[in-house]
Amino acid sequence: MMLASKQSHPLSPLMRKDIADFLENQQPILREGFERFGSPLHLLWPEALKDNLRSLRTVLNAQNVASKIYYGVKVNKSLGLMGAALGASGGLDVSSLYELQDALHLGAEGRDIVATGPAKTPAFHQALLACNALISIDSVEEFDDLLRQLPTEGGPHPVLLRLRPGNQGQSRFGMGLDDAIHCLKRLVDMPALRFEGVHFHLGGYSVETRVEALQEAADLIAIARGLGLSPRLIDIGGGLPARYVDHAAYVAFQEAQTAEDYRTHRLPQSFYPYGGPIDAVEWLRRLLSATMRDGRDVASYFAGENLTLAMEPGRALADQCAVTVLRITRVKALDARSAVIFVEGSSFSACETWFASEFLVDPILLSNQPKALAAAPLRAYLAGHSCLDDDVISNRWLDFPSAPQAGDFLAYVNTGGYQMDLMENQFHRHPMPTRLCVRRTADGLSELIPDQCEETQCSIHL
Ligand SMILES: *Cc1c(COP(=O)(O)O)cnc(C)c1O
Repeated sequence: MMLASKQSHPLSPLMRKDIADFLENQQPILREGFERFGSPLHLLWPEALKDNLRSLRTVLNAQNVASKIYYGVKVNKSLGLMGAALGASGGLDVSSLYELQDALHLGAEGRDIVATGPAKTPAFHQALLACNALISIDSVEEFDDLLRQLPTEGGPHPVLLRLRPGNQGQSRFGMGLDDAIHCLKRLVDMPALRFEGVHFHLGGYSVETRVEALQEAADLIAIARGLGLSPRLIDIGGGLPARYVDHAAYVAFQEAQTAEDYRTHRLPQSFYPYGGPIDAVEWLRRLLSATMRDGRDVASYFAGENLTLAMEPGRALADQCAVTVLRITRVKALDARSAVIFVEGSSFSACETWFASEFLVDPILLSNQPKALAAAPLRAYLAGHSCLDDDVISNRWLDFPSAPQAGDFLAYVNTGGYQMDLMENQFHRHPMPTRLCVRRTADGLSELIPDQCEETQCSIHL
């Protein structure tokens, strides 16, 4: 196992132990996976999602804050990850009819489901109402649409109002205070809907903007109670950070990098904070200990007001849940010092370059060559298998201590969050990449189970 990195400033991926073990020791199973399913392969560790969910819940429990953690399923298409969230007593945040259908197929019930997305169709509303899922109402217009869909019987149907906090400027998501109060007043005389509470979701990862938004949500809760409504929760959305590489290493890399580290001779303007100073657990601790206007900390506010803290992390729950492995097709020399590595797969399966940015994590070279054949060092960028000039997986030059060869694998760790399958497609009629769940067997080996079919079928076990 070898890292490809600018030797002086490596961006080694942080890795769960079972992922590191798998990449180190289970390469025959991986090779078999490539033979059966082609390249790239998306490997999934659903257990990691359970661990992430439980870690967040532990922080909340320790502060006596009642909570409901919904996994924001749009972050990844894996059914295994959705099932893991349910298996760890989490819920699912669905944003389309199709995500909802998958959730129900996996055994989720209405009380496990929230729909926070802004553009729900009549069919989606109807399906949400039919299973009594929690619906976050994004606007007065959606409120009116929902009322038109209400069945004459059943209910009351639980709803949230999505607030657009003051610090969100002209965001098209959620409603301003006046519209929210207008909806609250109508909800008072509406037995068919049950007002559960206030929801918001912010861009960015700062704790401070959440505390500001939470204060506005708390004010709205007080107004609702004054109107005779009895809300039970505040939903703080997602946006918890995930850490991909060590913080100090990341800072050192950022300070050292220049435009010449990229084949484009351009330094991307922005990056996801891959090596941020805090992880999701610390983020949540800081949120709970922040001070509200009345002097209480956030944890005491929730406990004292008898409110549940709901949230919908996507990326933070998918942290350490997936690895994308690409097979090298060809290493083509560009000049005496550098090369382009073509892989079987595309930048749609590692898509940061499409956002004018880069995935700042070094891939790991899994060589299929005998050790004795180790080649000279090589500097290369990574390109996909399409004829689009922009189909580049890494514009950043990668320094390999020993040149990769056709047939070797490159593994990108931690692609579960908006990375591996956000933009995947069948360009050139290449089949969609396969997702495989990795499971440890009783004899200490691993088996690969297709993410889409029953566990009893088609597992690879050597
Ligand atoms: C995308 C999204 C989330 C999840 O965001 P992450 O940054 O992945 O945690 C939660 N809520 C809403 C409304 C979203 O649109």
